[in-house]
Amino acid sequence: MLREPNEDFNLKELNQHIQALTEIDFELAYLALLTCRGLKPLSRWEKPLDDDGLELLQKMGLLTKQIRRTVKTGKEVVETIFSRLPAYIQLYEQRFANKPIDKSVQTQLFEGLLFGYPPCCVNQYIRQPYAPNNLTTREQKILFHWACTNCKITPVLLNAYKSVYDLLNNT
Ligand SMILES: [Zn+2]
Repeated sequence: MLREPNEDFNLKELNQHIQALTEIDFELAYLALLTCRGLKPLSRWEKPLDDDGLELLQKMGLLTKQIRRTVKTGKEVVETIFSRLPAYIQLYEQRFANKPIDKSVQTQLFEGLLFGYPPCCVNQYIRQPYAPNNLTTREQKILFHWACTNCKITPVLLNAYKSVYDLLNNT
């Protein structure tokens, strides 16, 4: 395997950024690392995030964008999205910037694609949310999608998610 001369240094730096993100919020750090690893093409953070948080994401090699949305009452909310892929940031922005938050079928399908959810799980969730599946509570907890019954994709994803989750817990 090719080895970058400064790989160890970068790894140390990456760990520091992850550690700092964990101090803001464990789930934010988890999403950031999943996105860095390419397991999620794009992630969305719905809680407020200041410039320090944005900078940490950027230092991990992620592109960030803050997107203004509205809720039913007309109140404005700011979402933070991050991705390694400029096209995904652009797709999200084109579709959702300054738009009301909605849970339409179309939106759920589109978000599923952006967030890296298996299409089978998204489709089942649309038909029947939280249908029983074969996952343990712990397994389901480390995912961001609800696995469909007898899912063929989730078990494979789960292993990759689990290694990121465990890494984060040992940082
Ligand atoms: Zn599935």
